[in-house]
Amino acid sequence: MYIAVTSCKACGACRDVCEVDALIFQGSRVIGIDYDKCNLCLKCVKVCKNNSLIVVD
Ligand code: SF4
Ligand code: SF4
Repeated sequence: MYIAVTSCKACGACRDVCEVDALIFQGSRVIGIDYDKCNLCLKCVKVCKNNSLIVVD
């Protein structure tokens, strides 16, 4: 399982929910996930109202 990042709207909602600092930002846009840190808790997926973070099995 992994999280695909698509068309982040830079709303900032996910910035504070990741407890392991695994979201990779370019400015205020999410451009990827650091899987050395990510524990797949999916908090970022749930908080993103723009469906920019997609769970892929
Ligand atoms: S799934 Fe959890 S650990 Fe991984 S980037 Fe999202 S909030 Fe962080
Ligand atoms: S919550 Fe979604 S749209 Fe907002 S910054 Fe995070 S990935 Fe981008």
